Amino acid sequence: MATSAKTLIILGASGDLTARLLLPALGQLLTRDPGRSLHLLGADRRQLGRADWLARVKGSFAEADAAGPAVDTLLAGTEYRAVDVTRPEELHALLDACTGTPVLYFALPPAVTASVCAALAELTLPAGTTLALEKPFGVDEAAAVRLNAELHALVPEEQIHRVDHFLGRSTVNNLVGLRFANRIFEPLWNNNHIAAIDIIYDEQLGLEGRAGYYDKAGALVDMIQSHLLQVLAVLAMEPPSTLGAQDVRDAKGLVLRATRLRGGSPVRSSRRARYTAGTIEGTRLPAYVNEAGVDPARGTETLAELTLEVDTWRWAGVPFTLRSGKAVGARRREIVITFKPASWVPAGLTGSHEPTVLRISLAPDLMSLELNVNSEDDPDLLRRAALTASFGAGQLLAYSEVLGAMFDGDPTLSVRADAAEECWRIVAPAVAAWRADRVPLEEYAAGSEGPPRWPSTAVAEAETDQANKPR
Ligand code: NDP
Repeated sequence: MATSAKTLIILGASGDLTARLLLPALGQLLTRDPGRSLHLLGADRRQLGRADWLARVKGSFAEADAAGPAVDTLLAGTEYRAVDVTRPEELHALLDACTGTPVLYFALPPAVTASVCAALAELTLPAGTTLALEKPFGVDEAAAVRLNAELHALVPEEQIHRVDHFLGRSTVNNLVGLRFANRIFEPLWNNNHIAAIDIIYDEQLGLEGRAGYYDKAGALVDMIQSHLLQVLAVLAMEPPSTLGAQDVRDAKGLVLRATRLRGGSPVRSSRRARYTAGTIEGTRLPAYVNEAGVDPARGTETLAELTLEVDTWRWAGVPFTLRSGKAVGARRREIVITFKPASWVPAGLTGSHEPTVLRISLAPDLMSLELNVNSEDDPDLLRRAALTASFGAGQLLAYSEVLGAMFDGDPTLSVRADAAEECWRIVAPAVAAWRADRVPLEEYAAGSEGPPRWPSTAVAEAETDQANKPR
């Protein structure tokens, strides 16, 4: 695809995000799409010579097997500047060095990003300048509102990309395709037929040396406030008439505005825990509080769970449980949709009467529909069977999709200003209750499934609830 020339300015170019995710993605994008005209300008406070910078870029490109004419052109022209990016005159010089329309990528700690926005307010940005911001977007709803106001004073909303790489185009399209292109799902996609929805992202990895960021964020902000709420919004949205940016983002916004902690109670609808020492697949992990850089007094959770309600005609009464944990025994990245029990089963049929469950695995991209079917050797006996299929995983790395959309001016997958604020509003009661210690910080051994008393899904809760509140 031939596109107008862009200059990607990475602020925080010697950081982790740039090396591990942004540069490999850039290399992959240029390899797949050599028609793009791109200049890369790195800026960070670390002193790096051009040779060092080039070696870093090439190292990251090699991880994505990047090659071809567009890659060679970018490597020949890339520059690096050792600067304090919070200083207006340095930012001015960076913008002056652009050979194409600037795309400013804030690969910076959130507090530094806020200072850069203040510094940019002193400059006149070139027409068409795009701003790309990473999560977390602010530290609470008020900070997100302030940051949005500052950004809107710089460029229009369409030129602001609040990055959420979790929901790549293929994941969104897989969810939308499964639900809307199959008559057996969409008519059932509501509180008449669905008992509970769980969105789970448990990983086996522990802190991995990221205390500087994670110890201040925790599992709630790192995963639920950002990524998992985006999954909920896509899963629960009303049918968008197109997959264009406005339709999809309007539909997601409607869901997020109607979402809140279930029953308005952080004490009953949120849980938190922190891992103690344990073993995962033969590797010994220290307790979280003994990891380098962790301040135990912060009480940071490594496993968080919120049960939410989406207060709409479609979803009233259905618990949405969002859970994410580190150092958990089994990796689980899935959406579990548990249907209500069959309304009636003839008395002669014994065996499994479990409800139908649709599992959508997010990595790898698979689906499995779990049903009751009659046994091969006993037609009176029902057993569990699963119909499985795999989705396309997509051709591009998640960050290649992010960068490609940014260069093409397509904000569909970016988080819109209102959604960024809503996501903080949704989690705020839990954050406040956790800070006030109204919800206990439980413990689980690294390598376990979490605290022993936590059921693995919301189904149990949904069943209890249904007993009290039949629909
Ligand atoms: P890092 O700390 O690794 O990188 C940030 C870089 O910015 C560092 O090199 C830092 O320099 C530099 N920097 C800080 N202040 C200034 C300044 N005033 N002028 C110039 N350079 C400065 O952070 P990450 O790369 O991990 O994260 C960046 C952002 O991306 C964060 O918002 C994070 O939440 C987000 N993110 C990160 C992911 C990851 O996997 N790393 C994944 C998803 C999002 P110094 O080292 O000297 O402080």
